[in-house]
Amino acid sequence: MIQKNHQEWNLRNTYSDLPDCFHEKRLPSSVIKPKLVYFNNDLAKRMNLDFLIDDTFLIENVFSGNEIPKDAIPIAQAYAGHQFGHFTMLGDGRAILLGEQIDSNGKVHDIQLKGSGQTSYSRRGDGKATLSSMLREYIMSESMHHLGIPTARSLAVVETGEKVYRETSNDGAILTRISSSHIRVGTFEYARHFCSKEDFQTFINYVINRHYPEISTNENPPLELLKVVMHKQIELIVHWMRVGFIHGVMNTDNMSISGETIDYGPCAFINKYDPKTVFSSIDMHGRYAFDNQPKIAYWNLTVFAGTLLSLISNDNDEAMRLAKKNLDDFPEEYSKKWHQMMQKKLGIIKPRKEDVTLIRNLIQLMKDHGADYTNTFAALTLNKSSNDSMFSSNEFNDWKKQWKKRIKNSNNSLKLMQKNNPLTIPRNHLIESALDNAIQGNKTEFNELLNIMKNCHDYNAQHDDFQSIPEGHDESYKTYCGT
Ligand code: AMP
Ligand code: MG
Repeated sequence: MIQKNHQEWNLRNTYSDLPDCFHEKRLPSSVIKPKLVYFNNDLAKRMNLDFLIDDTFLIENVFSGNEIPKDAIPIAQAYAGHQFGHFTMLGDGRAILLGEQIDSNGKVHDIQLKGSGQTSYSRRGDGKATLSSMLREYIMSESMHHLGIPTARSLAVVETGEKVYRETSNDGAILTRISSSHIRVGTFEYARHFCSKEDFQTFINYVINRHYPEISTNENPPLELLKVVMHKQIELIVHWMRVGFIHGVMNTDNMSISGETIDYGPCAFINKYDPKTVFSSIDMHGRYAFDNQPKIAYWNLTVFAGTLLSLISNDNDEAMRLAKKNLDDFPEEYSKKWHQMMQKKLGIIKPRKEDVTLIRNLIQLMKDHGADYTNTFAALTLNKSSNDSMFSSNEFNDWKKQWKKRIKNSNNSLKLMQKNNPLTIPRNHLIESALDNAIQGNKTEFNELLNIMKNCHDYNAQHDDFQSIPEGHDESYKTYCGT
């Protein structure tokens, strides 16, 4: 393992300064034959890592873990979590945090290699990842970014030259993912259960200083932390609901304290509107179904609150009362934000109470007709009909008249709709076809899809074609974890 001094990095690893119980120092495993598959030039520029852009050799070595930049302190982070409702000790079993790159605006970017070998948290896992699943995370997370949704991003995918065995033999790869931190609700659960109270307090101070410094002087920072994290999560879930995104595995360890979407595993987008949609092969009871996501966020926040109680007050009853008072705001706050989001999707500038009925009626019609979620709103924005049967139904046309009367075709309404209704999403069949080809070395479709998603809100460039999906495709579509 070579440590090199590339002058241009501005790296540190403040997380490694936390007490030992929070991490283990661990170098990424070296790989046999690193080969660059994708590098995200735009993101590299944002992170002030321009010097990497034309240096494929350097990219391959650094983002395979074969070469460690100077000032990086590679660690695996400890965390626990509730997986499908059950508490488990977890931790970075196949990821290594190199450190935090600080850009010229002072923004902090965690740099993590995913698929870079075993750690002491690997349990029975091999610490590796397949090329296909790392490319999937790349395109999903970049799509979410282009859809305007807070998310971890993808800087690079590098093939390892090694095989990874799942049900079959696959090419292995490492994804470099970037986020404002990788601190999870599950990290709090871990700290509360397995670290001393003093270390837990140190951790909380660290999280507040890193993510929410404005609350550090508040009368009760842990309580305030619960409040801000709740707001962030509500905003995030409302975004997911705006574009039809199903995370698929909203375990507490996959919920970031920063309010970014993290841990892209069995996620997918809905096509036809069915609120009960589930694609994940392991989600038997629909715990993480599309319309269950706000309830699960609420559940996860209750777990989060539970970890904070002893720091909110020495008096447990008082701590419970204060935490509950905050959590009780969730349903109303979520509903308010969700309605505001829907009003924007419908181009409503000055919200009124009666809009609730207008929204409810449209949702019901979409559900009854199994109308495509994205295309419905894109069609309304374009003032066109999509292929869905809903558009030729009398009920819908009555609804549309009422809606038109409500928004009066103003230019501002149109702009609002264009901003909130993507024309395109990474459709399941497009993702699968792009991945199948990309792992065979043909990246044309993958590049096309990335490009489509870069312009997903561009109503000028992408005129009137709606995305269509092959009949019956979603009925048998399944997504997988840990691949
Ligand atoms: P995820 O479902 O990606 O959120 O992962 C849940 C837990 O399993 C985390 O602790 C991961 O680090 C761990 N994990 C997933 N895949 C592997 C693997 N192939 N080897 C080791 N640990 C893994
Ligand atoms: Mg995870």
